[in-house]
Amino acid sequence: MKSSGWGLAWGAAGLLAIATTARAEAGQRMEVKRVSVRVENYGTTPLQVRVLAQLMASRIFASIGVKIEWRPRADARNVIEVRLRRDTPEEFLPGALGYANPFEISAPRVYVLYDRVLATNARSRLGYVLGHVIAHELAHAIERSDGHAREGVLKARWAPRDLAQMEIEPLGFTDSDAALIRAGVSAY
Ligand SMILES: [Zn+2]
Repeated sequence: MKSSGWGLAWGAAGLLAIATTARAEAGQRMEVKRVSVRVENYGTTPLQVRVLAQLMASRIFASIGVKIEWRPRADARNVIEVRLRRDTPEEFLPGALGYANPFEISAPRVYVLYDRVLATNARSRLGYVLGHVIAHELAHAIERSDGHAREGVLKARWAPRDLAQMEIEPLGFTDSDAALIRAGVSAY
């Protein structure tokens, strides 16, 4: 009995190793695309929240072979700007945590309603959620679409379980959104 238990454990570990290797190989075959992003007016956002948010957004895009290059200044060309808003009127897009102007080609810019992110999340979760909101709105801008997915980063409204999941592993894009984003990134 004991030996079969070990066998099962080793078997599972072996499968996990194979799955990981397959994903790594798929990642290597995929050409890495790049997109430049600058976050404006972080203001008094704690440093650890910013670092975690950028790490989350970077990981979400890295999972589909897109590298976010975070730019410190606005002078570079072809940069998508992210603006944090802290003065959202209650009646403005009720329940939304951000918005994008996906059909505006000349000045790609996305907004995060940071006051709402702050008001609806525990402090320990802020960086995770902020990173996902940034990734969600960047996806709209890059895809030039306001469409949503049933699950994952591009879900219209995250359920409590989605928010809890963000702290364990970043949410992902659907295969079709991944393809649209990778195609759209080339425009930046
Ligand atoms: Zn959206």
